[in-house]
Amino acid sequence: MLTGKNYIGNSLSANGIKTFRTFDPKENTENEQVFYEASSDEINQATELAHQAFQVYRTIESSKKSKFLNAIADEILALGDDLVNLVMQEAGFTYERVVGERARTLWQLQMFADLLDEGSWVDATIDTAQLYRKPNPKPDLRKMLIPVGPVVVFGASNFPLAYSTAGGDTVAALAAGCPVIVKSHPMHAGVSELVASAIIKAAQKTGMPNGVFSNLNSSGIEVGIQLVKHPFVKAVGFTGSINGGRALFNLANQRPEPIPVFAEMGSINPVILLPKALQKRNEEIAKIYAQSITLGSGQFCTNPGLILGIKSKELDSFTNYLSDEILLMKPGCMLHPTIVDNFETNKEKMRQQENIATIASYENGVNKNDGRPLILTVDGTTFLKNPQLHQEVFGPFSMLVQCESIGELKTIISQLEGQLTGTIIAEEEELLIHSNIVEALQNRVGRLIFNGVPTGVEVCPSMQHGGPYPASTDSRFTAVGIHSIKRWVRPFTYQNWPNELLPKALQDENPQKIIRLINNQLSDSAI
Ligand code: NAP
Repeated sequence: MLTGKNYIGNSLSANGIKTFRTFDPKENTENEQVFYEASSDEINQATELAHQAFQVYRTIESSKKSKFLNAIADEILALGDDLVNLVMQEAGFTYERVVGERARTLWQLQMFADLLDEGSWVDATIDTAQLYRKPNPKPDLRKMLIPVGPVVVFGASNFPLAYSTAGGDTVAALAAGCPVIVKSHPMHAGVSELVASAIIKAAQKTGMPNGVFSNLNSSGIEVGIQLVKHPFVKAVGFTGSINGGRALFNLANQRPEPIPVFAEMGSINPVILLPKALQKRNEEIAKIYAQSITLGSGQFCTNPGLILGIKSKELDSFTNYLSDEILLMKPGCMLHPTIVDNFETNKEKMRQQENIATIASYENGVNKNDGRPLILTVDGTTFLKNPQLHQEVFGPFSMLVQCESIGELKTIISQLEGQLTGTIIAEEEELLIHSNIVEALQNRVGRLIFNGVPTGVEVCPSMQHGGPYPASTDSRFTAVGIHSIKRWVRPFTYQNWPNELLPKALQDENPQKIIRLINNQLSDSAI
């Protein structure tokens, strides 16, 4: 049952005077439950509790943290259809989309639990002493990754489960040993409260300290700002717009003690159509791209918002096929009227730019908050000159750029902003013939896809979800997969430390049987 209150550690609290409601985009009406925005005092209480909890939580054995993460998964599943229905109500998603996203959320929790059980992720590195080395003896040095401290996670609007309260950022931070304060997305305050209740139950059942998790409501930017400025907060995770991510990044850097902000922001995910592939299968490519552009009403950070090809009769027929296919797609409900308004405004802004033509514009009657797909086209020279055309239009939208030559295509790729993904649709031999295109694209993105679509992010260790700015604020890290834990830790070295006082990961006996780098050799042996 929803209360509309904040979770300050294990306690529900509603001291603030500002209230708000979430919105049902399918019904186009406000939902009933009233939510209380966290007051300044409540924010301070949550951060103080997280700070205290950190002193305990960082020392809790990995196996117990693993049980905590698995218990969160169990409690989320136990919420059953109450949770599924609430996500549908607050996000306008279909039942299948919610169940799929929930499965991904549970899988992420279980994956990090397994990582903790195995234990080698701490990158234990040991250089044993050489007491008789000349001219100076070498000390015993032992390094591992340790948690940074309390982390603030901003819930995403477009992934109410998998990138929100118990989503990728939260689970990676909890696995690392960091308490988490979630600033829930105002559109998903109910879902966030329900998921928070599952996390709190799991924390209590597995004996985690009060304050290891808090969930704060907000309907404006003030709560997030106070959290990011708070001296007890040591890192931030964010998914959303470039404006929001950049504002928080700047704020964190202006603090007396700057802290990292790992923001995953906009991306237009360029798709390169090479000539031979178009000659062979332009109809098939158009079909899969019509689906990818409109998947989830285009509300994915991996949405293919830019398609680049070389002027030819094959590109013309691809354009015609894409137009036909897009108009066959049934528009889906978007997250919120504000997102729909932004979508309509940004589409219009693009349409009004010079030399723009429309390939497909869905104009049939739709429900109030459905996203009507739009595909525009422009020549390469105009695209190069006009940076406005490089911007993300969040929703079922894509821009097809018709280049004069391979040379122009390469210039365009080199001038793009940083992206999460880049896709090359080609025959295999074209990858070698046009290796300069491949290299140019690799410079701008975090993941290259061959003959596929950028939508659909597999959650596994080899996934890179992040790219050069502004795709993310730090391209050295991923927001998806086990390596995302590296965002919430720092390397730490013990010098000449007594063996029995070292963390287990660094002790001579290697009691956890983890893989370590000992005197430059990987090994799971004792010393
Ligand atoms: P958003 O506007 O960036 O907001 C995300 C979160 O950040 C919200 O909780 C918001 O707080 C907070 N925030 C935003 N600006 C802030 C600031 N200056 N200071 C402190 N906190 C701030 O994103 P959104 O609400 O999810 O969607 C809006 C637009 O973002 C979309 O239309 C789309 O263009 C883009 N977006 C892109 C992606 C992507 O993956 N590329 C994903 C999601 C959204 P409040 O809501 O409480 O104000």
